[in-house]
Amino acid sequence: MPRANKGFIRLDYDQMCILGGAVDVWGEDAQSRMAIEEMAELTKELCKHYRGEVNQASIIDECADVMITVAQVACIYAPSFSPEQLNEAIEIKMARLKDRLHPPDVIEIKRGKGRPSVED
Ligand SMILES: [Mg+2]
Repeated sequence: MPRANKGFIRLDYDQMCILGGAVDVWGEDAQSRMAIEEMAELTKELCKHYRGEVNQASIIDECADVMITVAQVACIYAPSFSPEQLNEAIEIKMARLKDRLHPPDVIEIKRGKGRPSVED
């Protein structure tokens, strides 16, 4: 029985084919460098935010770029992996993160100013 799509970091087979296709077309080195470049662009936008710039849309845009290119890095360095493997790894790490927020029954996660925050 297929599991429901529970979040924003889930890749299906078609998406993995697109990511793998990008690696095939532009090459492993180029796409690895692109991931580095996108991470730097996100870093730059976060630095601007901390200097007081209102750039939420740019931060979201760069997060999307980073997530897409990092998934390509996963294709490059683990070429036989499946979307389920990556999704499983994410789920394990998300569960670990959730456990660190212990005790979960007294933690209330709220959304504030467009980003999640944790208050106990
Ligand atoms: Mg970018």
